[in-house]
Amino acid sequence: MASITQRLARIAPYLKSGRRALALAGLGAVVGASTEPMIPALLQPLLDQGFTARALPLWSIPLALIALFFVRGLAGFVAQYGLASAAQNGVLQLRQDMFERLLRAEPGLYTTHTASQLTNTLVYEVQQGTTQLIGALLTLLKDSLTLLALLGYLLWLNWPLTLFVGLLFPTLALVMRTLGRRLHRLTVLGQGATDDLAYVVEENVLAWRIVRLHDAGAQQAARFADKARLLRRLLLKSVVAAATITPVTQMLAAFALSAVIAVALWQAGAGGSSVGSFVAFITAMLLLVQPIKHLSDVMAPITRGLAAVERSVDLIEQSPFEAGGTHAPARAEGRIELHDVVLRYRADAEPALASLSLRIERGETVALVGPSGAGKSSLVNLLPRFIEPSAGQIRLDGRPLRDWDTRALRRQFALVSQDVVLFNDSVAANVALGDDVDEPRVREALRAANLLDFVNALPQGLQTLVGHNGSQLSGGQRQRLAIARAVYKDAPILILDEATSALDAESERAVQDALERLMQGRTTLVIAHRLATIEHADRVLVLDGGRLVEQGSHAELLVRAGLYARLHAMQFRN
Ligand code: ADP
Ligand code: MG
Repeated sequence: MASITQRLARIAPYLKSGRRALALAGLGAVVGASTEPMIPALLQPLLDQGFTARALPLWSIPLALIALFFVRGLAGFVAQYGLASAAQNGVLQLRQDMFERLLRAEPGLYTTHTASQLTNTLVYEVQQGTTQLIGALLTLLKDSLTLLALLGYLLWLNWPLTLFVGLLFPTLALVMRTLGRRLHRLTVLGQGATDDLAYVVEENVLAWRIVRLHDAGAQQAARFADKARLLRRLLLKSVVAAATITPVTQMLAAFALSAVIAVALWQAGAGGSSVGSFVAFITAMLLLVQPIKHLSDVMAPITRGLAAVERSVDLIEQSPFEAGGTHAPARAEGRIELHDVVLRYRADAEPALASLSLRIERGETVALVGPSGAGKSSLVNLLPRFIEPSAGQIRLDGRPLRDWDTRALRRQFALVSQDVVLFNDSVAANVALGDDVDEPRVREALRAANLLDFVNALPQGLQTLVGHNGSQLSGGQRQRLAIARAVYKDAPILILDEATSALDAESERAVQDALERLMQGRTTLVIAHRLATIEHADRVLVLDGGRLVEQGSHAELLVRAGLYARLHAMQFRN
């Protein structure tokens, strides 16, 4: 595993834009930390000159105290805000990079990650991870500086005593740590024992018939008692551990303090230190406890926060951009060829398409027919490179798809499929998706999809919001909206994958004309259950188990009395 510094270095590039803010935060932390020893430092003149010698102006110490806390507060704010601002700039950039990757990554990303995983990483994990990191890094920065400042002050004040304390402190820390670890271990064991106990109960509830049939009740009761006793023992042990920590710590602290007092008194006897400097020393020493405590707990949130942020960086680094060529004509002719195309979704699975070769001429309407699972959708998904063939080659206008610029390639296709995807935006924006809204053309497209009357009757007409994924619309309306979108796109190749499946017979007839008009002058691939579209196709391709088993016109295939004739007969029976 990479060290913390290496891991921090990975995310450092995202902090570049926040360098200034980071520097400011550092400055704030330094100023803040250097004010810490001033609190005990104020006590010394207060006691020695204020109370004992009465040689100080009345207001000097109180005013100095107020000024001190003002500077401290300001410095603390600057440190916290600077760090947060640098981190949030980083998050902003990280998020944008991730979303960019999401938009342009190889489609494989969508099969290796689920939608909720991606949402979680992009939205929540970066956020939580960053919040944890900011908090922990702030502690690290402020408290380690405070620690240094206080230690420096203590050394300056009384270095022999400081060295003496320096020997006591680690011993104290070691004892506390050992006790803390024991408590933690017992807690974990206790959780395990609780699970075991629950499991015995669960087993006996689920398997009560077997238990009674075999008269195994006594055995089970003994098992339960064993587990319950173990749990009791562990819980009591952890109570002992928890209850000893405080008195033991306090005892040790008392020993340490007594030792310090003894040494200080001995020094005072030798004419060394004053009351003020002794109180300042003790105060500074007590002030050390808090930062030490914080620093000992700082690693866990850093590790957790880093892990979350790293998942986001991984998402970027491990998702290559989609590769494409440079061939980018404005409009394709629409000639499609497949040469021995094999498609496997997984290496060990049956191929979804097996050595498929076919040719579709420009402007031709081809119907794809076959039982469910035959590979029809897989075939059409290959064309805009939503998936890559495992072997073989696909060409558009004689150029392999890989030569095409991916954006230019996808401009050539309009797709209406079974699952219509709508964005929570206006009707117009959904129709013109990806393009500028040209209202007359939008209206024209809606008219062609037989949806204009409906849209005109909506409260805000074209500007009506369709709701999350079109929740305000019926299935048929959604599908007609998708048809309007295809009309608006005016691409040379049209793919209809069960485009009218959500429509009842009447609405289907209503959009059938629109579809027929849409097909004019375009290469069209239609996957349809209902016959009307298929009968009008120039050619019917019959797929079964990923293979092309028959092709010809509707009439020819009926005469042949093969799979197509059987599917056709079945449909009439329904
Ligand atoms: P059709 O559209 O003709 O009903 P598909 O092309 O959807 O058939 O499916 C063809 C075969 O490929 C089926 O066996 C299906 O289970 C499988 N398949 C389709 N999509 C995926 C996918 N994303 N991952 C794995 N297998 C898939
Ligand atoms: Mg399908």
